[in-house]
Amino acid sequence: IPILTIRDVSKTYTTRGGRTEALRGAGLTVQRGEFVCLLGASGCGKSTLLRIAAGFEAPSSGQALMWDKPIAGPAPSRGMVFQDYGLFPWLSVRDNIGFGPKSRGRPAAEVRETARRYIDLVGLGRFADAYPHQLSGGMKQRVAIARVLANDAEMVLMDEPFGALDAMTRERLQDELLDLWARTGLTVLFVTHAIEEAIFLADRIVMMSPGPGRIEAVHTVDLPRR
Ligand code: ADP
Ligand code: ADP
Repeated sequence: IPILTIRDVSKTYTTRGGRTEALRGAGLTVQRGEFVCLLGASGCGKSTLLRIAAGFEAPSSGQALMWDKPIAGPAPSRGMVFQDYGLFPWLSVRDNIGFGPKSRGRPAAEVRETARRYIDLVGLGRFADAYPHQLSGGMKQRVAIARVLANDAEMVLMDEPFGALDAMTRERLQDELLDLWARTGLTVLFVTHAIEEAIFLADRIVMMSPGPGRIEAVHTVDLPRR
């Protein structure tokens, strides 16, 4: 069974200004261990699809399933990484990364050990006691990635995570993410509007059409290095 199934999903937002159809009949499956990029123009519904996969929003109709079970709300197994990092500014790097296990009641020694392991995994050993405002953008995004991994994410949902970084930092983070993905067997669903980024990162690129985000075509990109 796929780790993620999106089946005939439609989503309409109702606001004071009226109704916006963000998705119509979208379908997608992701297998465990895949690196899938969702590619499409701004406004085509990529973030909406990702938020539905995360459980932050419910579809208006259709189904969103993880391991064939309905996604009923957010869960640590589905970790979200945002373009603006979403770190807790009042917590150190160590405590940001340990936040998930700690809030789930893990013993203090285990929280410390888990935080240490993931701080090292993203190469921030010297910055364990720093606070987010002391870090560069690239370092903040490393913390955000470590935080979802430390919280036992099986699937990482990334919404233009490198969109706010300069080109050199972006390329380095792309390399690091692929390296992490290859070493950990993670499943990644990665939203981007940049085709070069999608081609560089993905096993499979899912193109979304503009308008009411219908998924139009699915391209499989076979990369020789894998
Ligand atoms: P993308 O991520 O591809 O840019 P989005 O999923 O953010 O697309 O948006 C799809 C459409 O839904 C857009 O027209 C957007 O304005 C609208 N939309 C997204 N989120 C909301 C919301 N919370 N309330 C109302 N409309 C929304
Ligand atoms: P980025 O990936 O955002 O470019 P780097 O990891 O390349 O950040 O940063 C390179 C090194 O520069 C870091 O290991 C760190 O030693 C130092 N550094 C970067 N930003 C800061 C900062 N805001 N405060 C202290 N040291 C920093």
